[in-house]
Amino acid sequence: MFALEKKSFWMLLGAIIVMASGAAVWKPFDEYKSGIVWPEPPIINPGNELHAPSDAIVLFNGKDLSAFENGEKWLIEDGYAQVQGSGITTKQPFGSCQLHVEFATPEEVKGDGQGRGNSGIYLMGKYEVQILDSYKNKTYFDGQCGAVYKQQPPTVNACRKPGEWQSYDIIFEAPEFNKDGTLKTAAFVTVLQNGVLLHNHLELQGGTFWDQPPHYESHAAKLPLHIQDHGNPTRFRNIWIRENINPLVGTLPEKKEEAKGSL
Ligand code: MG
Repeated sequence: MFALEKKSFWMLLGAIIVMASGAAVWKPFDEYKSGIVWPEPPIINPGNELHAPSDAIVLFNGKDLSAFENGEKWLIEDGYAQVQGSGITTKQPFGSCQLHVEFATPEEVKGDGQGRGNSGIYLMGKYEVQILDSYKNKTYFDGQCGAVYKQQPPTVNACRKPGEWQSYDIIFEAPEFNKDGTLKTAAFVTVLQNGVLLHNHLELQGGTFWDQPPHYESHAAKLPLHIQDHGNPTRFRNIWIRENINPLVGTLPEKKEEAKGSL
């Protein structure tokens, strides 16, 4: 008998709590909806450490560099490609993009400063995100690994040891130019090294040059991607690029109706 009363007590208490909590979250407003009719985001396979996302263009999958001019010059071994004799340039041009690159500076340390594990990712062949062995290797800060060369040092030095595999994930917004060649919209870049943010939507001051201050020179909306040969046997693997990084565009049907009615 006592057990039954105890059970009833807890059931009653439970009901009171549920009712009270319901009252606490109840609001006299309708759910907000933007009214925008969005296209459905495409369904993709995001891939994993070994496989690119299904909507990416694979530039190097460990087997050949046929996506690049001069790719045949590089040493390809055990799933990686090693700088040899020339820089390589994609046959296909790209504009705004998301780029994934894995690289390893030479395990055997030779040279110092800019002469150690130097290579680089040249977005549109013009805007270099530096690759360098910056593990206990000082150089000018806007030239160390992860720098936008001679424009902006990385926010942190996130380098792994020589010979260890590292990654760059780069989101690049291509610049736009007016018909008269003047700059309409600057380029922007976001860079993560080994998953760590180095640059957050950084506005580029122009092309990256060794012997000139940065400046823009009008160019096409899409240009090939270049990977630098700086005389050091830096290795690469798992390179892929995604072109469509623009936000989805929705429509506002209500506003269209209003426009029709006013005619
Ligand atoms: Mg370089």
